Amino acid sequence: MLVYSPSYNTDLRKYGFDKPFALDRGQMVLDALQQEYGRAIPYLLPEAISLEDAGLIHSRDYLESLKNDESWREIFELKEEDLLPPGNYEPLHNLLGDILLKSGGTLLACRKALETGLAANLGGGYHHAFPDQGRGFCVLNDIAISITKLRRKHLVERVIIVDLDFHQGDGTAYIFRNDPDVFTLSVHSQEGWPDEKQESDLDVPVYSEETELYLEKTTQGIDQALSSFDPQLCLFVAGSDPYELDILPGTRFLRLSLERLRQRDELVINRFHDLKIPLAMVFAGGYGPDVWRVHHQAVRHLLLKSGILAQ
Ligand SMILES: [Zn+2]
Repeated sequence: MLVYSPSYNTDLRKYGFDKPFALDRGQMVLDALQQEYGRAIPYLLPEAISLEDAGLIHSRDYLESLKNDESWREIFELKEEDLLPPGNYEPLHNLLGDILLKSGGTLLACRKALETGLAANLGGGYHHAFPDQGRGFCVLNDIAISITKLRRKHLVERVIIVDLDFHQGDGTAYIFRNDPDVFTLSVHSQEGWPDEKQESDLDVPVYSEETELYLEKTTQGIDQALSSFDPQLCLFVAGSDPYELDILPGTRFLRLSLERLRQRDELVINRFHDLKIPLAMVFAGGYGPDVWRVHHQAVRHLLLKSGILAQ
């Protein structure tokens, strides 16, 4: 069960800048699957969450600050070289609707996972957003908002976040630091941004010379988490930025092959599926023209597992 909208394909140049995260990985994944299987892959359209929903996690002052384009420039780390020549651009704060929609996609994917077992939002995963600060390209913490909203509605009590993005899921770890019903597991590069890591319930730091141990460490992390925590939902933050062809300079410390990342994503999906724990996947980080391949193989596996695609 996939969640996507053609509106996810935001043209950042309309806002006067360009960045490698501008590429729409969701559409590339859908196009590739359509080619492979000879038919369009169905997906559900999300609805935007409200600002009130965002307020479940984010402070009023922070949400207010998003009316100011300077805040957006900081969150997107816009440098002089990212800016297009002066022209008639839309104000950056108009991007808020885009973020609210993609956050709604994460919420819908979680709901569908609870109903059907497996789902994915072809976007989302803004794990660096803190309650009163956005950073690292993350404006709203869609993960934390979705979990909090579902728990308020008593649709779920205990949730595990399995965050395998290159970067530590620091915002999410901070938000749930005192919450015994949300387990935060982060397997991430110990080298590189963010320099100051937060404390997750379980952190599994990986060093650049440990590529060969990556899958083993990930498996051990999941084993250890599940030995002490009994989740009713897994939110899988399946970042593609540990991929060797990711172009963000800061992700150079991990250089995982496509094959290793296929094994990673399949092991997570299979593990929770076998335990009959619903799993919702989000894309999170991934930069440049090649990273969609990581998501492509993960989404294909999820669709095969859920019976939507046949072997
Ligand atoms: Zn990342």
